[in-house]
Amino acid sequence: MPFYTDRVLNGSAVAKVIRSEVADGVKELAKKHRAPRLVVLLVGEDPASKIYVGNKTKACAEVGIDGETVELPASTPQEELLERIESLNEDDSVDGILVQLPLPEGHDVAQLQWTVSPDKDVDGLHPINAGKLWQDQDCFVPCTPAGIIEMLERREFEMAGRHAVVVGRSAIVGKPMAALLLRQNCTVTVCHSRTKSLEETCREADILVAAVGQVGLIGPNHVQAGAVVIDVGMNRLTERRQIDHYYPGDEKRRRAFEKKGSVLIGDVDFTRVLPKASAITPVPGGVGPLTIAMLMVNTLESAKRRLQRTKGD
Ligand code: NDP
Repeated sequence: MPFYTDRVLNGSAVAKVIRSEVADGVKELAKKHRAPRLVVLLVGEDPASKIYVGNKTKACAEVGIDGETVELPASTPQEELLERIESLNEDDSVDGILVQLPLPEGHDVAQLQWTVSPDKDVDGLHPINAGKLWQDQDCFVPCTPAGIIEMLERREFEMAGRHAVVVGRSAIVGKPMAALLLRQNCTVTVCHSRTKSLEETCREADILVAAVGQVGLIGPNHVQAGAVVIDVGMNRLTERRQIDHYYPGDEKRRRAFEKKGSVLIGDVDFTRVLPKASAITPVPGGVGPLTIAMLMVNTLESAKRRLQRTKGD
C-alpha cells in the first residue's frame, strides 16, 4: 500500500500552514511582551546567500518577527564578527542569531558558531544543541531536518520501525536528520562519499533522504518501489542539454531556464524516481520552504523561553 495518495509532497503548502501558526503565536507574544527578534549576519557578497537571507527576512515580516540583516564586507575580520556575536548574545531584545553560510575564506566557522549563545542558536548548530539532540533533550534543532520531520508528522506518516537511509552526514542536515529519524524510532543508516554500494543501501530504504549537493545522484536504481523520497539538495542546472535530460518535455522549466540562465534541481532525478516513489518532495517547493518556516518556529520558541526565564528571575 502506498503511504500517500498525493505523491508529490507540497512543502510550500505545509510551510504556509506552519507560518500562519507562527504568526498567531507571535501576535499573542507581542500582546504580553514584544515580537521576537532575529538577527542575521551576512558577510560578503555571495549572491545565493543574499537570496536566502532575503527570503528569511521576508518570512520574518510575514509572520511579524522583527528580522534584521547585518550586512558586512567580506574583509570583516574574525575578531569583529566574534565581538558582534558576543554583543548580540548580551542584548536581551535579541532572540535568535544566525551566521549565514558560506562565509568568505579565512573565517573559522566553528569558532563563530560556538560563540553564538546556545539559547539564541536558532540554527541548532552549537555543539551544546547538537549534543542535546543526540541525547533526546529539549534543544534547538537545525531547521531543514526539523522541517522534514514536521511535514512527515503532519502527513501522519508512521515512521516507527521503518528503515530510513540518509545520504549525507553534514552537521546541518545529514547528522541531525539521522538523530531525528532515530527519535522517531526509525532504523537509520547514514551514507556518505565513502559508502560502498550506495545504490543497494539506498534501495533498502522505506524513507530515503538525499542531502548531498549533486545533481541527479539518486536515480531510480537507488529507490525501492513505494519508498518516501525526500530531496534536500539545491543545485543549479546551467546547460540546456541538462534540462532536456532531467526534465524531458517540461516546457515550463525550459522557459524558466531561457529567462534566468539556470534552474534549480535537487539531488534526486525527480522525473525518473517519481514513478517508483510513494511520495517525493519536489525542488523547488519541497524542503526549502519548510526550512525557513522552521526558522520562524525556532525564533518564536526562543522568545517564549526568554520571556519565561525573565519571569522566573
Ligand atoms: P555538505 O557538502 O556539507 O555535505 C554533503 C554530504 O554529502 C557529505 O556528507 C558528503 O560525504 C556526502 N556526499 C558527497 N558526495 C557523495 C556521494 N557521491 N555519495 C554519497 N554521499 C556523498 O552539504 P550540506 O549537507 O550542507 O547540503 C547538502 C545539499 O542540501 C546541498 O545541495 C545544499 O545546498 C542543500 N541544502 C538545502 C537546504 C534546504 O533548505 N533545502 C538546506 C541546507 C542544505 P563526506 O562527508 O564523506 O564528504
